[in-house]
Amino acid sequence: MTGAVPSTAENRCARLAAFDAPVTAVRYVDRPRAALLARLGIRTVEDLVRHYPLRWLDLRSTAPLGSLPLGIDVTAIGTVHEVSVKHPRPRLTIVEVAIVDDSGVLVGVWFNQSYIRQRVKPGDRVAFAGKVQIEYGLRQMRTPFVELLGTGETSVALARILPVHPATEGLSSNWVRRLVTEALSAFGDVPDPLPASLRARRGLWPLRSALRAIHFPRDEDERIAARRRLAYEELLALQIGIASRRHSLVDERSGHRHITSGPRLAGLAAALPFELTSDQRAAVTDVLKDMAGPAPMNRMLLGDVGSGKTVVAAMALAAAADSGTQAAMMAPTEVLARQYARAVGGSLDAAGVRWALLMGSTPARERREILAAVRSGEVPVLLGTHALLTEDVVIPRLSLAIVDEQHRFGVAQRLGLRGKGEAADLLVMTATPIPRSLALTLYGDLDVTYLRERPGGRGPEHVSTRLVPRGARQEAYDVVRAAVSDGGQAYIVCALVEESEGSEAKAAVREAERLRRKVFPDLRVGLLTGQMRTNEKISAMEEFRGGRTDVLVATTVIEVGVDVPGASVMIVEDAERFGLAQLHQLRGRIGRGERSGQLLLFADPKTSEGRARMEAFIGTADGFELAEADLRLRGEGQLLGERQSGLPGLRLASLLGDADLIEMARADAKEMVGSDPHLVGAQHEPLLESVRRALGRDWEWVSSG
Ligand code: ADP
Ligand code: MG
Repeated sequence: MTGAVPSTAENRCARLAAFDAPVTAVRYVDRPRAALLARLGIRTVEDLVRHYPLRWLDLRSTAPLGSLPLGIDVTAIGTVHEVSVKHPRPRLTIVEVAIVDDSGVLVGVWFNQSYIRQRVKPGDRVAFAGKVQIEYGLRQMRTPFVELLGTGETSVALARILPVHPATEGLSSNWVRRLVTEALSAFGDVPDPLPASLRARRGLWPLRSALRAIHFPRDEDERIAARRRLAYEELLALQIGIASRRHSLVDERSGHRHITSGPRLAGLAAALPFELTSDQRAAVTDVLKDMAGPAPMNRMLLGDVGSGKTVVAAMALAAAADSGTQAAMMAPTEVLARQYARAVGGSLDAAGVRWALLMGSTPARERREILAAVRSGEVPVLLGTHALLTEDVVIPRLSLAIVDEQHRFGVAQRLGLRGKGEAADLLVMTATPIPRSLALTLYGDLDVTYLRERPGGRGPEHVSTRLVPRGARQEAYDVVRAAVSDGGQAYIVCALVEESEGSEAKAAVREAERLRRKVFPDLRVGLLTGQMRTNEKISAMEEFRGGRTDVLVATTVIEVGVDVPGASVMIVEDAERFGLAQLHQLRGRIGRGERSGQLLLFADPKTSEGRARMEAFIGTADGFELAEADLRLRGEGQLLGERQSGLPGLRLASLLGDADLIEMARADAKEMVGSDPHLVGAQHEPLLESVRRALGRDWEWVSSG
């Protein structure tokens, strides 16, 4: 260890406890102020010192009012010259505050915020922060942030960066700043949760200096360094929670050591009709390594649509068969389960691996036979749908569970399949392209393997995507017709009109009727909706796959995994109603064969966000870039849904922006939990405290897959 002189244990405990003290321990915090602070979520001393500023006003280098740059965020300082209130229309009140200095005038303008006129009066020294524009020849700022700088005794030193803290009615940001200052000077010397050796290795500031500098940075570099240190600490707590959970789930139990060099695996590899891509080879290596090891595998295979995940799964199935154990692979729909049977069944046969396909629609007699053959261990590989989860499906030697399109299943279902075996390996697969930094947090207890390459050079980048303007429907139908007369096929996807699959299906039925009668009377138009009976769905899919229908009108049931190489054109109705990830999944359905694809979006986005999303979608074919764009446009909270609200302790860290810190924190957490699983070592004492505080009752938040 480097740095700090070790203090005595009691001393350390006392200082830690002080951080937990009620906020009334801070000077000037009386009962009424404590009540106001509680409204800001501040109850303890620590809450107060970690009540980070919303923004910082840089008062060191403000330009004279007469030469403020336009259009960028600036801070301007002047003396209030005049406050005026106008009522140009009923229900519209405009407050204008003109400030002056030797060089010129700047006017702050507020609409329907008359309280501003109570806050400032002529003669006050103030700072405005915002963007300057020229209106009627005058420099003005619309609804600038205002800070009263005071005069004489109470004046704020101008040669500094001023923090602006979240405040509440009755407790101004000035007051909050003052209370934070008090808390820092009395209690800032808290033991650092990050061991000095770790700080040194990662180039992170000590807690005390970081807390000082996040509130009162002397320059931008200090603020950045402080933020980095504090954000890292938040992420480390989270990753420790994840790592320790994973440790208790995985590392402390022992699983199957599979044989990964057996004849069936070799036979399967030899029987594949194509060469694996290098990403696929790397993924197979990851998976087989996990399977060969003693700890149960917990891996997620994350690859865009068409990246070839199924064959990686097939190799794992063959390894289980070689090991004399059993494996099960589950898909969210019968269409997909059948597709596996077609895609991997032949190769499994060629490799001498017996397999069976079990679905809800499997006839009773066949089902009984399959169950018996699986129960006796005669059939090592079982493919299927949710039907695999039924209680009477007994897979006595199950050592590998594979869940495809895992986002379509609930946690209980994913674990349910695995639970049919004893410490079975788990491989989950998904085409939802989430950025790695997010995956490491949301699915932190899983190892993640990416398939980025696309086999055969096909995929979304070979699909041209465009927005079809209103009234140009006919042109889009002409594209369909041209593709069909060239031997191709097309999908027409109907959007979720209301939030129910029922109405979506109805829209598709109606649209199919209309197309048959009015638009494509000479073509063969099929229909596929989630509401249809299973055998109807399957035959609709078979007809399309076999080229016996030209146009398939469908709901989003085709979104996942369906693979029909002949389909090269897709029309999506009401495209703005879809999420970007969903549109991207849809786009993955076409251009899979020789023909390059064309995606035509009927969309009429009403909001600027909607337009931006459509533009982002057209602008890139990369699923990961799209996921990031979606995240930016909708905000992290939206994408993470409920889980975000349960994401503990993140005040500064951003799951998207702090990818490098997340990687660091994850590696460090793994190492610490590996060497000291329960963080009981003396060097980890303050860290354990801070993890407990950060994760609190949410400690259990991190869930499997
Ligand atoms: P996804 O990752 O979307 O599940 P699939 O496993 O369905 O992708 O594969 C998509 C298509 O690519 C399938 O038709 C599959 O046979 C084919 N494929 C997979 N790997 C390769 C490869 N290495 N070379 C050529 N085609 C491949
Ligand atoms: Mg798939």
